[in-house]
Amino acid sequence: MKAIIVGAGVMGLSTAWGLARAGHRVALFEQGDLPNPLASSVDEHRLIRHPYGDRTGYARMVDPALAAWGLLWRDLGVTLYAPTGTLALTGNGADWAERSARSLASIGRPMTELPLSQLRQRFPLLDARGVERAFWLDTGGVLFAQDIVAALAGYLAKDSHVRLHRGTQVRAVDPERGRVTVVGGATHDADIVVVAAGAWVGRLMPLGKRLVPSRQIVIYFRLPEEQHAAWANGPMIIQKTGDVGLYFVPPMEGRGFKVGDHGFSLSGDPDGSRDAREEEIRPLLERCRGLFKGFDSWRTDRLKACFYTVTEDERFVVEKTGARGWVMSPCSGHGFKFGALMGLELARTIASARDPLQHARWAAGLEGE
Ligand SMILES: Cc1cc2nc3c(=O)[nH]c(=O)nc-3n(C[C@H](O)[C@H](O)[C@H](O)COP(=O)(O)OP(=O)(O)OC[C@H]3O[C@@H](n4cnc5c(N)ncnc54)[C@H](O)[C@@H]3O)c2cc1C
Repeated sequence: MKAIIVGAGVMGLSTAWGLARAGHRVALFEQGDLPNPLASSVDEHRLIRHPYGDRTGYARMVDPALAAWGLLWRDLGVTLYAPTGTLALTGNGADWAERSARSLASIGRPMTELPLSQLRQRFPLLDARGVERAFWLDTGGVLFAQDIVAALAGYLAKDSHVRLHRGTQVRAVDPERGRVTVVGGATHDADIVVVAAGAWVGRLMPLGKRLVPSRQIVIYFRLPEEQHAAWANGPMIIQKTGDVGLYFVPPMEGRGFKVGDHGFSLSGDPDGSRDAREEEIRPLLERCRGLFKGFDSWRTDRLKACFYTVTEDERFVVEKTGARGWVMSPCSGHGFKFGALMGLELARTIASARDPLQHARWAAGLEGE
């Protein structure tokens, strides 16, 4: 079988890997460089964690996701992941951590509640004033995202089953015929076309408002030396205060301390300016000030504007379209952790008789909920 894949973010590359591993031929088209710094997958890190509020379907997928990454590390000959453990904090009435604890207990992976006195003792640099409840889980960690994309692209470049067309933008997709037309007019045909075009997906597929690009800002901080050392072995932190979700990535292996929020801007053009604006940064800085001791001595190292591709219910879209097409958009700001798994599983469905509707339901995290 021959497949065409549009987009070389983590989803397109992982699907190419899954198909090539099973002996199928793949032509992969990427409009930019490879890795493309504008892709959602191309940033220093992405988190993988079990707590998922009451979305038990996604929580259940985390162990298979870790196993899929394990298989990728074996193929690549390098592990691009560091375990950190997961600290979940809630305040201002939010109950996300409690719901996560309930959901994880139901699948045999209990979280430990930390009394606030213990939280302060264990993480003395946290200013836990607004924190109402804290939970700890030993699992979870950091995937070195841009290194993974680069390594996977390099690996596939050496695979005789795969042809990488970098700097080649697909202008149109015909999912009935299994045909793509690239800028310049050339056409390419295959048995299956997978569109894994990230925030650009709506330009190729008629999805209306189902998948919306959402510009998100992250801040990398430089910490004073003693704080850097103290945080270097720290956990990832997921914090929900009222409606606002924040995540914090500890500085590890020479990388920065990163902060981002999980509030969707639901606006922006992935081809527009990637400069972060003052009004985008300010709320993030204010939230950090309330959570970390000594925050005023932290320095902003750099800012990054990146895109989520968001659905209204934050579930993933991986769906068959037409006789030969698939739209693959597992994002809503939480898809990277499932990249290797999504790729292997889509490759398996494409090459087997597995029901595409069942696949879509699984990818949407609806199985077992
Ligand atoms: C700030 C931020 C933080 C995040 N944090 C996490 C996290 O902690 N944990 C987690 O699990 N997930 C996280 N995510 C989500 C995760 O990064 C994304 O879900 C995932 O990377 C999406 O991958 P993708 O392959 O679908 O899209 P992309 O990586 O964007 O890849 C799409 C590719 O398609 C190419 N393309 C588009 N159109 C065309 C065309 N017409 N022709 C050819 N090529 C085309 C693009 O150039 C791009 O390279 C985060 C995302 C962001 C932005």
